[in-house]
Amino acid sequence: MVTKVEKTKKNLIQCRCKLCPSYPLGCLIKAGPQMAKVFLASEKKLEKESHMESLFCAFEASSCIKEKKGCKCPSCSVHKKYDLDQTFYCLEKD
Ligand code: SF4
Ligand code: SF4
Repeated sequence: MVTKVEKTKKNLIQCRCKLCPSYPLGCLIKAGPQMAKVFLASEKKLEKESHMESLFCAFEASSCIKEKKGCKCPSCSVHKKYDLDQTFYCLEKD
């Protein structure tokens, strides 16, 4: 059984998407203000969010990333912790 990835600050910090070649610099810059807001808000508020430009295995797909240029998910500790078996969570599912 696959455990649902929790929307926590710890998982957001451990998420490797921000180091990924598929994550364009322009998207990272655009995501900055929302990420900063999240880190200042409570964990409860984070749980209620449906969209976040990171931790895509817990949130929806990205509204900015469009192209596959490699994926850091297999080397991510969140991936191991929740026994995930997929990659490219940032892109729309087929
Ligand atoms: S498995 Fe991928 S999407 Fe999920 S936290 Fe890790 S790097 Fe981010
Ligand atoms: S889900 Fe994978 S491909 Fe997408 S940004 Fe995260 S590490 Fe990169």
